[in-house]
Amino acid sequence: MKRILIIASHPDDEVLGCGGVIALASQKGYSVRVIFLAEGVSARYNEEDFKDNKIIKEIENRNKNAYKALGYLGVSEKEIFTSNRYCCRLDTLPQIELIKDIESHLEDFRPSMVFTHSGDDVNIDHRVAFMSSLAALRPIKKSNVSDFLTFEVLSSSEWNTLRPFKPNYFVDITKVLELKIEALKLYDKEVKDYPHSRSTEMLTALARYRGSQSYFKAAEAFCIVRKIENSL
Ligand SMILES: [Zn+2]
Repeated sequence: MKRILIIASHPDDEVLGCGGVIALASQKGYSVRVIFLAEGVSARYNEEDFKDNKIIKEIENRNKNAYKALGYLGVSEKEIFTSNRYCCRLDTLPQIELIKDIESHLEDFRPSMVFTHSGDDVNIDHRVAFMSSLAALRPIKKSNVSDFLTFEVLSSSEWNTLRPFKPNYFVDITKVLELKIEALKLYDKEVKDYPHSRSTEMLTALARYRGSQSYFKAAEAFCIVRKIENSL
């Protein structure tokens, strides 16, 4: 029985990056836990306004949407961990705080698969999530993690045109692509109009493109950070 841990910077990254995997895993009855390292709202405002009720409400709403979207994909409420750390500022925190947070989930949840951000994303919190996960998952003791993978997030990964995401692991999401798109729509403020890359058109286009690279009608693509083979 697989146990899947997803380490995402902001609510919506998990759907964009691996919403298809979440849906498929839930359908198979696997345990899925999603942890967020930050909220996803405050970067749009000035720091002196962070205590404004309007911003606090928006953060609450974004976190509520995470429960709705992940519930829709089949994740149990008790396996969703939101955070009110300010977004696009994770690089200003002592990294050890994030590493210890991730380590506590590794200890408690004992995942067999771990997904997090690509280290080449434009978004600073995504890069910090990658570096913190790398540190938390360093192989210094016996672990159940056999697959450690990174995902791509539209409106961040593909914007680094000089260091494009280079996947080498594909999952057929043909049966759940519609679920993934509907889950993203539950983040009402995050879906933009095409040609913005965080649009339903581009989410579909990326799934089709990754599908054509792996001969599926739709796929999610990942990079392997570490794969441990223990069945031979
Ligand atoms: Zn993000």
